[in-house]
Amino acid sequence: MRYISTRGQAPALSFEEVVLTGMASDGGLYVPEEIPQLSRDDLAGMAGLSYAEIAFRVMRPYVNGEIDDTTFRDIVEEAYATFSHDAVVPLNQLDANHFLLELFHGPTLAFKDVALQLLGRILDHFLQKRGERAVIMGATSGDTGSAAIEGCRHCDNLDIFILHPYQRVSEVQRRQMTTVLADNVFNVAIEGNFDDAQAMVKASFADQSFLNGTRLVAVNSINWARIMAQIVYYVASAVALGDPHRAVSFCVPSANFGNVFAGYMAKRMGLPVKQFIIATNANDILHRTLADNDFSKRELVATLAPSMDIVVSSNFERLLFEAYERDGASVKALLERFQAEPSALAEAPLARLRESFASHSVDDATILEVIREAHHRTQEILDPHTATGYRAAEQARADATTPVITLATAHPAKFAEAVVKAGFPGVPLPPHMDDLLEREERYTVLPAELSAVQQFVVENRR
Ligand SMILES: *Cc1c(COP(=O)(O)O)cnc(C)c1O
Repeated sequence: MRYISTRGQAPALSFEEVVLTGMASDGGLYVPEEIPQLSRDDLAGMAGLSYAEIAFRVMRPYVNGEIDDTTFRDIVEEAYATFSHDAVVPLNQLDANHFLLELFHGPTLAFKDVALQLLGRILDHFLQKRGERAVIMGATSGDTGSAAIEGCRHCDNLDIFILHPYQRVSEVQRRQMTTVLADNVFNVAIEGNFDDAQAMVKASFADQSFLNGTRLVAVNSINWARIMAQIVYYVASAVALGDPHRAVSFCVPSANFGNVFAGYMAKRMGLPVKQFIIATNANDILHRTLADNDFSKRELVATLAPSMDIVVSSNFERLLFEAYERDGASVKALLERFQAEPSALAEAPLARLRESFASHSVDDATILEVIREAHHRTQEILDPHTATGYRAAEQARADATTPVITLATAHPAKFAEAVVKAGFPGVPLPPHMDDLLEREERYTVLPAELSAVQQFVVENRR
């Protein structure tokens, strides 16, 4: 198994190289050259297995023997032992045919833990084998930073530097990062906004000479291993509801498209899936593209579901590559045009997308209404991201008889602001985190200057 670029011009790489590389040298994203297949027997044989065992079976062909089976099994088991629920990602029934897949039982209470608990361990394994060390740099406005830190805190061969905008991250989100007091974790509060932090990370990737040869690794959702890890819960939840004997549909609160693209991969591997419903907040590029073929950028809107606030969906490129039947030159031309001006997809690729995907966009007022309505009907308090999914599933499902699984991407305690706005007194943090507000914090405040940040990295990496 090799991995190829969606823009068709970068060299094909092995799994190990792809995990360590991130973006392809032609500006594209890596995807597997062939999609491994799960037969009906493979799927039927997963009924009743543990999440870790299903994860091992689903991901094994992508790893391609580059990690031996025993070691890979151990890595997978360790990664998912950090989840506080024995089912790892339990299914919660809302009504006769609507289910919530709770992806928020990991260390930071959001679905990004599913991928990052695994990615940190895979990176550490490859670096150990090569006798190398690496530096991770990332910018965060909240969610991803804490999940990346939790995923790397035990990794001997990695030092992680996460930049967040000083005094512009909620207290819970900041403390989820700054109370991790491991020797290889460095939180930097930048005297600027998120874009300043992001620009410094981008500049550091573009010119890595300040690190004198040490590898810089990206753990954002363009890293293939994150997609790979997310394929698993689509398979596990569908099998739990009777796949392959009856198909299910999925509804996915979406932003960068990494999560729902993993679902699409599960379908391409052979999982019977009737429909993927893409839920967006007011930042609705995915919905506009699917519904109106309006593939254009709009101003960023700050919403009650902040982890879905994006202008461009980076992983959509991977789906476009499939929709254009793996014609990298067409994908490259479309995306270059899109950077400059409002664009549209060609007819045949758009028709292909519409065979598998529907979409629905949910504004802030509706998010609040849905949180109240879902509580009234089911006694569940949804987080604002999950609320977009709940509404989209009801609005856009093709029929009422196919079970629909809405992905619950965060725990409501993590986004208490929206829950309180909806009229609830708030949601307590789960027991293992209830002392979060008393824990010791550690972070360094730096000016929004590239040289200051890079000097800090060089002086502190181990
Ligand atoms: C990251 C995130 C999303 C969006 O996921 P994508 O893979 O970027 O589409 C949705 N909800 C929550 C809570 C998130 O943290």
